[in-house]
Amino acid sequence: MRDGFGREIGYMRISITDRCNLRCRYCMPEGIRLAPMEEILTYEEIEMVCKAASELGITRFKLTGGEPLVRAGCPKLVGMIKGLSGTEQVTLTTNGILLGEYLDELVANGLDAVNVSLDTLDCRTFRQMTGYDGLERVKESIHKAVKTGLKIKINTVLQKGINAHEWEALLQLAKENPLDVRFIEMMPIGCGRKQEGIEGNKILSLLKEKYPGIHRDDMLHGNGPAEYYRIPGFAGGIGFISAVHGQFCADCNRIRLTARGELKPCLCYEDSVDVRGILRGQARDGSEGAKKRKEAVRDAVRQAVERKPRKHCFDEEEQITEGRQMVQIGG
Ligand code: SAM
Ligand code: SF4
Repeated sequence: MRDGFGREIGYMRISITDRCNLRCRYCMPEGIRLAPMEEILTYEEIEMVCKAASELGITRFKLTGGEPLVRAGCPKLVGMIKGLSGTEQVTLTTNGILLGEYLDELVANGLDAVNVSLDTLDCRTFRQMTGYDGLERVKESIHKAVKTGLKIKINTVLQKGINAHEWEALLQLAKENPLDVRFIEMMPIGCGRKQEGIEGNKILSLLKEKYPGIHRDDMLHGNGPAEYYRIPGFAGGIGFISAVHGQFCADCNRIRLTARGELKPCLCYEDSVDVRGILRGQARDGSEGAKKRKEAVRDAVRQAVERKPRKHCFDEEEQITEGRQMVQIGG
């Protein structure tokens, strides 16, 4: 389905929980108020939204959070969405702590690809950035995932004075393994506003100096706005998601579903369409009632697509109306 600016919207990011087993400082501050469990959509409710979305041409789904793997039954949800007739692809974004444990089940349920967020290869920095000693578990998960042959992307957010110098060490993951390492610019959402990120172009310049053979790779690697490069001798690719400095909104292809059942047209603005109210609205009996509910859910998805703004406003922070943390929205 096309939005008001003629963009084809075929992709939905679904936050299945606002809970997390890490406390990344730019995403989930201590003391954050979590949604009461009864406000979180059930898997059956998420499935209904996906079904409605797929009838409108949204065929690729990404499970995210919070940390999706802390919610019991996440692999089951992968299977539920994969089983819908319109689904082309179900992928997952995870911090990797529990990935090793659930990998086989995720693959058995049809997971198509996984993104693992990893900002550092230094144990102390990992603890400093996330509040936990989890680096070894994440590394083990990545190695296990490589062995399954699953498509893997490593997502890295670099911060000045914290992990910026690690770009080269992180890049080695793509040298040695058939996976993509992607550098994502810090977005001014929630605590991210207070952190100083690194511009994608700066990292690219460093890469060009170090690896003169680096060249653009125009092959499609995923559903997102990343630009990809190849370095001769590397098993995997290098990606840049320049969320702030690269203007990729003209190619935006997505809407988001928060764990509390809001359909969000854009990460940057508070605007949302409440789908939980529709899913849980007054019970309507019989097949006629079920049909009306399905139509109302479809209408909500349609509205979210129609209300997509032309562009985000990360370059004009005072215009950002989304006041929540990334973990509450779903990154
Ligand atoms: N817990 C999972 C994970 O860490 O991959 C999924 C949710 S997390 C919110 C998804 C992604 O958002 C992570 O790669 C994280 O680094 C990124 N993220 C969180 N806050 C961000 C911010 N302010 N700017 C840029 N990326 C951010
Ligand atoms: Fe949790 Fe992911 Fe946010 Fe880190 S980035 S706090 S792992 S949701």
